[in-house]
Amino acid sequence: MKLLEEKVLKEGIAVNENILKVDGFINHQIDPELMKMIGEDFAEHFKNQGITKIITIESSGIAPALMTAYTMNLPLLILKKSPSKVLNENMYQTIVTSYTKGSSYELTLASHLINAQDHVLIIDDFLANGEAATGAIRLIRKAHATVAGIGILIEKSFQPGRAKLEEQGFYVYSQVRVSKLGAGIIELTS
Ligand code: 5GP
Repeated sequence: MKLLEEKVLKEGIAVNENILKVDGFINHQIDPELMKMIGEDFAEHFKNQGITKIITIESSGIAPALMTAYTMNLPLLILKKSPSKVLNENMYQTIVTSYTKGSSYELTLASHLINAQDHVLIIDDFLANGEAATGAIRLIRKAHATVAGIGILIEKSFQPGRAKLEEQGFYVYSQVRVSKLGAGIIELTS
């Protein structure tokens, strides 16, 4: 997506060879006009696929996922992160390792909000090792629902997330693919 590519190149900050900061327009401050266009791009890409719900992971996925859900006129489900390991029979739960924080968290989904008839689109801000998306898929499978695809704003294609998801047969659409990061270096691939 051209607009997001331009924004990443102009305003993104490569912290090191692995981490890209996009605090100015996605993670800390949000550019609503950009989010609207991101939502429209995902909606166009995933149209006519029988999708019943959008699913994202709190918190950075919420803005783009909401705009996608709004454009597609679908409900948005937010997977919650919680540090507690308290088992709850009304919740689907799974452990995910955080890429940026290097720690683990529990991802939860209330079981009454999803069922076997649901065909869902997962939206997240970044794809790195694919842990967050794989965790979301585990929860969706616990509900016997199906995955239409995974929509990502920024994929770091030098990391293994896409391959991991594709190996399991999932379709990944990324609006921006970063091929290289380094001090003052952000390179994109199409
Ligand atoms: P994964 O689960 O694919 O390893 O990592 C994806 C998650 O980690 C995303 O939800 C995002 O919050 C975070 N993340 C991974 N890489 C980056 C990065 O380079 N920059 C930022 N801001 N977040 C990242």
